[in-house]
Amino acid sequence: MKRVLITGAAGFLGSHLCDRFVEEGFHVIAMDNLITGDLKNIQHLFKFKNFEFYHHDVSKFVHVPGKLEYILHFASPASPIDYLKIPIQTLKVGSLGTHNLLGLAKEKNARILIASTSEVYGDPLVHPQNEEYYGNVNTIGPRGVYDEAKRFQESITMAYHTYHGLETRIARIFNTYGPRMRLNDGRVVPAFIGQALRGEDLTIFGDGSQTRSFCYVDDQIEGIYKLLLSNYCYPVNIGNPDEITIKDFAQEIVKLTGTNQKVIYKPLPTDDPLQRQPDIKKAKEILGWEPKVKRIDGMRLTLDYFNRLSSEELNKSEHRDFLKS
Ligand code: UDP
Repeated sequence: MKRVLITGAAGFLGSHLCDRFVEEGFHVIAMDNLITGDLKNIQHLFKFKNFEFYHHDVSKFVHVPGKLEYILHFASPASPIDYLKIPIQTLKVGSLGTHNLLGLAKEKNARILIASTSEVYGDPLVHPQNEEYYGNVNTIGPRGVYDEAKRFQESITMAYHTYHGLETRIARIFNTYGPRMRLNDGRVVPAFIGQALRGEDLTIFGDGSQTRSFCYVDDQIEGIYKLLLSNYCYPVNIGNPDEITIKDFAQEIVKLTGTNQKVIYKPLPTDDPLQRQPDIKKAKEILGWEPKVKRIDGMRLTLDYFNRLSSEELNKSEHRDFLKS
């Protein structure tokens, strides 16, 4: 049985990866420090013999007994509210954490895939963003802690590849949504759905003309899986090119939830990218992958998940406190 280590396993993408690898018959070693992850995302997996969980912070030395074929490094805070609250941990997990996992991969002779991000492109001056674009990042802005950690992560990963001959894969993940997103992490999908379900106004930052392109989680996981098993070591964008303005997206959510919520406008956060759309030519050519799930269908599945949350969970105020501040 092939053994895979998944870091950030109790988070949104990490938990879906655990599902996929358990299903594919791998032995999954899940690791998380539970700062932003939640055990409820993986509690259904504890009954399987080919699943085990380590409560550990990968910014500290990582030890895993036995052999390992693959490592997927998905541990990191991943929302603007989190970067503001825990900026140092964000920098550490992308830099020190990645270094530890590369060392582990080298020791075990394992292939490692790291979760990079469209944030390496910053507020992009090239549209859509292809992998050749170097980006436009403010090193000292509020997003800098995430963006620069992820840029460093790519650099050190390539260095381990060229210097140590390590088998490495780099996924540049664009906005992804679906069940198990943290309701109150401030990201736009759970923010709008949460507001609509609580009967609150939807908060649009800026004038809402900024764009994002949302990928459903099942498509994202399939792309990552294919990239891991490919023989391509350079960065590959994984995302859905279907681009929409945040203003139009708010209207879609109002319609989808069947509510009559108004939208209200708040200042645009510093360095909030004005447009974002992945160029996925590479993923199509190299992986034979492209997203299949339409936003309307993916959003319905996501809404089903949030509808099942308890009213206590729905009313946690993290995001609302942030909006008031
Ligand atoms: N956004 C918004 N209202 C919210 C939360 C987010 O208008 O309550 C905007 C945000 O300013 C950004 C877009 O939605 O332009 C996507 O934000 P998110 O935090 O989901 O992801 P990212 O900016 O990292 O793509």
